[in-house]
Amino acid sequence: MGKRFDILLFPGGTSKAFTLSYDDGVVQDRRLVEIFNKYHVKCTFNLGYGVLGYKGDPKFPIDISRVETSEVKELYKGHEVGGHRLYHSDVSSLGAPYSMYEILEDKAQLEKLVGYPLKMFAYPFGFFNEKTKEYLKIAGYKGARTIKSTFSFDLPEDPYELNPTCHHTDKELMELAEKFVTMRTIKPSMFYVWGHGYEFDGGKNWDLIEKLVSYMSENGKDIWFATNGEILDYIQAYQMLEYSVDGSMIYNPSAIDVEIMTAFGQKEILKAGKITEIGETPL
Ligand SMILES: [Zn+2]
Repeated sequence: MGKRFDILLFPGGTSKAFTLSYDDGVVQDRRLVEIFNKYHVKCTFNLGYGVLGYKGDPKFPIDISRVETSEVKELYKGHEVGGHRLYHSDVSSLGAPYSMYEILEDKAQLEKLVGYPLKMFAYPFGFFNEKTKEYLKIAGYKGARTIKSTFSFDLPEDPYELNPTCHHTDKELMELAEKFVTMRTIKPSMFYVWGHGYEFDGGKNWDLIEKLVSYMSENGKDIWFATNGEILDYIQAYQMLEYSVDGSMIYNPSAIDVEIMTAFGQKEILKAGKITEIGETPL
């Protein structure tokens, strides 16, 4: 038996994951999805079912029209659809029954559209409290995004307070991207960027998002590009691993293969539903 410091590796044996999160299901998502697909990056799009198909006021300087209900499944294919409340109400200020209704009805209708149970939620306006988190857990959500930039790459301590690294307009955006790409680390790290598609029309800065994702893609050979939900699922699968007392056997009860490093440089793939025997680790 050797000294062990088992740590999580993401799929492909890497310590780095990149993910995006865009809110409101606005018509600019069509262009955003095209850009994300071109560079093979993954995003979670958080929608309010009750406002889908909304036609923005032409007098308003920025078009905040929403995509049509009928296009949701096809448009966001390969990415993830998350919840954002039925009518985009402030989650933290309403009574429990109405809060639960907006959360559940949004989730139920979106699930029918996309054909899978929703995992992720984004807090409208970033407002939430402890009760809100409870409602989301009861509704079956596995995580929820705030709007609080951390400017770090730490994995979340509480998946219901999933703080992004930064918003795409934060001036540190490309600095953080470069830091993430060039850093050498064995600590599991996540670079997480969020925003709204309509902001690129307002700021006339579509080049900003293309610059970010093309840079990440060109420098992404040791980066896992995943949706928010895929990352949470993976972390959960890692947390479910069952060890024998002597550490020589690890059972992975989940449906996801999990990769770990058991000693410096020694990688193991723990197959889903299987027991893996770990050989002697070097001292
Ligand atoms: Zn929103």
